[in-house]
Amino acid sequence: MIDLHCHLDGAITLEIAKTLGNLQNIELPAKNDDELLKKLSVPETCESLNDFLQCFGLPLRLLQTKEGISEAVRLVQENAKSQGLIYLEIRFAPQLHLINGLTQEEVILAALDGLKASELHTNLILCLMRSDHNQDENLETVKLAKKYLVKDEGVVAIDLAGAEALFKTKDFEKEFSLARDYGIPFTIHAGEADGAESVKTALKLGAKRIGHGVRVNEDPELLEYIVKNEIPLEMCPNSNRQTKAVSDMTKYPLQEYLAKGVKVTINTDDPAICRTNLKNEFSYIEKMYGITSDQKKQLLLNAADAAFCSENFKKYLKENILK
Ligand SMILES: [Zn+2]
Repeated sequence: MIDLHCHLDGAITLEIAKTLGNLQNIELPAKNDDELLKKLSVPETCESLNDFLQCFGLPLRLLQTKEGISEAVRLVQENAKSQGLIYLEIRFAPQLHLINGLTQEEVILAALDGLKASELHTNLILCLMRSDHNQDENLETVKLAKKYLVKDEGVVAIDLAGAEALFKTKDFEKEFSLARDYGIPFTIHAGEADGAESVKTALKLGAKRIGHGVRVNEDPELLEYIVKNEIPLEMCPNSNRQTKAVSDMTKYPLQEYLAKGVKVTINTDDPAICRTNLKNEFSYIEKMYGITSDQKKQLLLNAADAAFCSENFKKYLKENILK
């Protein structure tokens, strides 16, 4: 299996949180596991992406030192490996890890250290954050992405994450124009909390993939464009269910997109916060939408094609999926 859309701060499970707490002498604000689990994952009463984003407080507190970040990256990979993943892309926003005085560059270096500590093939995506007062931080992330950009086993791309409905994609032209100049590939969260227009803007800015994109079908022309230009969608069913990106999951457009030939991929987004993992996502879509084993294979081949990695490594991934 392959997960292309997994946030580091959304992947801090109960076990990882405890390890990180011990490692850094941070007392966890919970008397027992049940209480801790509640703080680390989304309640069923979650109403929107904005509510959902509130759940990141505790995980982020555990990710403010070099050792915490390195160990988290290692453990998230080990977790993925134990579930049978052959490739993982972990994303995080360096600017969210500066509370204890680290610089963005130190955050990235700590994550790279963690990457080396696991045998799983993993790449890093650096997130810019949607806000209206952090352009300098976002531009710094773009510059650091250029400095550390590689094809495999390191920083391979950037992303734009955060509250899509509050801060529009079109306001990040400057950041992505710089990324284009630098030749940094990027994905953008779009068509999740905001509609088709946000996806169109993301594509205009030069996004190679779209994070979520569930709302692409609001615009038939856009859907056609996505198919024709083979733009991969990083869909994350349980996250979309919990953030209410799709209000009625029986109408989730997965089969529709597959039938039309969209390059759909299935991912976890925030496995710990959503209390899910990739295996669970696949059983969910099998149960809910009757995804067959051939379709599952197609979804994985799409993920191999969409991966931010070298052509050689894509070949290796595809051979692995087909064997
Ligand atoms: Zn996401």
